Amino acid sequence: ATPTALLVGTGRGAQLGILIKGPEVLESTRTVDTVVLDKTGTVTTGRMSLVDVVVAGQRVPTPPPGAAGTSPGASGRVGPAASTGRAELLRLAGALEHASEHPIAQAIARAAADETGALPAVESFQNVPGKGVSGVVDGHAVLVGRDALLADWALTAPADIAAAKDAAEALGRTAVLVAWDGEVRGVLVVADQVKPTSAEAVAQLRSLGLTPVLLTGDNAAAARAIADEVGIDRVIAEVLPHDKVAVVKELQAEGRVVAMVGDGVNDAAALAQADLGLAMGTGTDAAIEASDITLVRGDLRSAADAIRLSRATLGTIR
Ligand code: ADP
Ligand code: MG
Repeated sequence: ATPTALLVGTGRGAQLGILIKGPEVLESTRTVDTVVLDKTGTVTTGRMSLVDVVVAGQRVPTPPPGAAGTSPGASGRVGPAASTGRAELLRLAGALEHASEHPIAQAIARAAADETGALPAVESFQNVPGKGVSGVVDGHAVLVGRDALLADWALTAPADIAAAKDAAEALGRTAVLVAWDGEVRGVLVVADQVKPTSAEAVAQLRSLGLTPVLLTGDNAAAARAIADEVGIDRVIAEVLPHDKVAVVKELQAEGRVVAMVGDGVNDAAALAQADLGLAMGTGTDAAIEASDITLVRGDLRSAADAIRLSRATLGTIR
């Protein structure tokens, strides 16, 4: 549980939804020069939804403008055979993801249940942190995850699926591959949304003299697209959950004094390692425990407010 007794909210801080653990925290707000921002759940809402399903061998090229005939539709669906492939893909992937708590998994399981009805049971489920999930559904050995997970099983995506994945990632989306019985069968595209206040928050952090860095386990292209949207130059992507703390240590080894803002999903150890850890109040208890400051509102602008307020408080003490 949250060590509530340690949360020393100064009057003004509490009003702003900023809880500071103790007076010793204030000093580090003066020296920080770098702010590491976790992508999912911090810069973005972390509420994902399924936006596209592409089945291997079934996406037809979009006809040239004005061409007669049937349109393949937004998802490239081309009739009964294709929609059967889509339903099977969603059913097997959805069943597997139903057993995972990852936001990507929840988006996929929800959409699959909505479209195909009750999901089958899963046997020998395995979660591979930062990569995806595997298990047996309806007698099929199913994998859902990033290319690194499929590579562990010596699988690669066919050209049409690899292209669909690349196109989705270039838009800042997350694309996960679905394979069963030794073949990559399709790709599921989920989208998160940048919080409306994140760009302004990054600008405020910059004006406080902090260099922002985006940190994520997600793919580099999606991370770059999100970074561009909010005005961040430096991106460190495709970092496995247990390596996030090493990234903070490396930045510190470069001589930087590091603040880190995260929601605790995969990043509690990194929050603890940072010179100043700021937890999103919308995040996990582990994040709040590992951090020096809790931002009660899920708004990244509070990170800038917290640093500004702490520095001002130091100024009055002196
Ligand atoms: P983040 O740093 O954005 O929180 P994670 O470290 O949790 O990301 O995951 C990194 C990547 O691993 C995801 O973008 C996704 O490609 C893959 N992944 C992780 N968990 C799952 C899952 N349950 N289903 C599918 N893909 C997953
Ligand atoms: Mg995360």
